[in-house]
Amino acid sequence: MKDQIKDYYVGVDVGGTKIQASLVSDTGSVLSSNRRSTPRNCGSDATLDAIEESIKELLQHQNQSLDQLSGVGIAVPGVVCQDTGYVVVTPNMNLSGIELGQIMRERLGGVRVEIGNDCNLGTLGECWLGSGRSSEFAVGIFVGTGIGAGIVRNRRLISGAGQVAGEIGHIVLQIPCDSWRVQLKIKKSGRGRKYVKQANFARRTIRVDASKKSQKLPLGLTQCGCGNYGCFESIASRSAVENYIREAIALGAKSSITDYNGGKLDIIKSGSIAKALKSGDEVVTLIVDYVSKVIGYACLTVRHLIDPDVIMLGGGMIEACQKYMMPTIESVVSSDRLQAAPCNRRVLVSSLGDSAVVLGAVALVRSSDASAFDQICESIPKYPRLLMLADEVIHIDDVAYTTDMLITPDGEILTRSKFPKNEPDGFRMKDIENAVQGGTDLLVLATPKAEEINLSGKCHDYLNRRGIDYRILPLRDAVQLYNSVTVRRSAVFHFSIK
Ligand SMILES: [Zn+2]
Repeated sequence: MKDQIKDYYVGVDVGGTKIQASLVSDTGSVLSSNRRSTPRNCGSDATLDAIEESIKELLQHQNQSLDQLSGVGIAVPGVVCQDTGYVVVTPNMNLSGIELGQIMRERLGGVRVEIGNDCNLGTLGECWLGSGRSSEFAVGIFVGTGIGAGIVRNRRLISGAGQVAGEIGHIVLQIPCDSWRVQLKIKKSGRGRKYVKQANFARRTIRVDASKKSQKLPLGLTQCGCGNYGCFESIASRSAVENYIREAIALGAKSSITDYNGGKLDIIKSGSIAKALKSGDEVVTLIVDYVSKVIGYACLTVRHLIDPDVIMLGGGMIEACQKYMMPTIESVVSSDRLQAAPCNRRVLVSSLGDSAVVLGAVALVRSSDASAFDQICESIPKYPRLLMLADEVIHIDDVAYTTDMLITPDGEILTRSKFPKNEPDGFRMKDIENAVQGGTDLLVLATPKAEEINLSGKCHDYLNRRGIDYRILPLRDAVQLYNSVTVRRSAVFHFSIK
């Protein structure tokens, strides 16, 4: 590692609950990560200390020093001036008004530091290595505690005039005023009947803030953390799902969610929501279905506004519940009756999971360099050369492989020493997940009886929803394809059961 030292970067994802720092190679391999809790209820100094320590500890574990780094990219959840490294506001943490770039540069001995918004950088990361790799114009939407987004055109982040483009969580999807029909209070019968109904509904208004004089809003509107009403985030984030579940239970609905969430309902984790969905819980299923529809309509809004070729969905809620959410989201998007959008526009799931943001932070440092982001997208890891001398034996660097093997997008070879008995002769979901971890353009699936193998619907959906191209080939053809292509690639070699 020491001789190519300047090709290494650190990406830091400063989240509301944890700080993740990762050491990343110039081709996007995450070499090591350090995670710690974000300090709570304290001043900004404690957070700055935690960021600094997480980077230094990561380097120490890898026997690296600061002067051997090419740069550090830091992602924060808030409005950031990317050009100056100034944090305008971080609603859920205490870095507002801090010259984060300058301070970290000083604390890190003058190393190059770049700062960006976490969802912007998650989108940039996905465009470097994940689902947006082949996209010219991508939008990433991240659904977690809140909802954030990023817009990347020709591999450049679009940040808007005031650096706040992509605040999709605060587009208003519930209109916070009565319609003219309600205000007219038409009471005639016959064709006007439905207006009467709406007028009655409108009378049941809630007083939002007693201190403000008579601010009346139609019932059912939700106030967002930003102060506005009816924001996308306030009705479709994980926090909104948590509120809906608590509300349903308070109203007497029966749900198993408490069992999956450690008997508590104060914080409901995405994983618990996924478990309740798996168990067929009616309340949680109805709520998640509603939220998925809202996300689907938000995707349509984005499409009609800026026509990206790819919309990528990520974040904790999507990661955990995609199996249940994506079919609904896809069905709303495909129901679009405005024929303006060409049919090759896609809604995909993010591929990089937890690593998207740190990789995007590294991409930011690299793209702000003289070398364009285009070039970094084209630099790929050094892949092993495969050799097949006899049937069902693959040689890589003088090692012969005769049982199942994976080659990751970083070029790393993984073997499964214990071969599961009675396995149907197909590709396992887990192997496919492992083989594409880190982002790939092409997955080569190799097996002696390629003509008899159809990928299961689950595996196909998994790859299709991430925009990953795959080929199922006999071993010899697979070896040839793997050696000859020039894109980011990975492979699963599935040998006969011996
Ligand atoms: Zn809002």
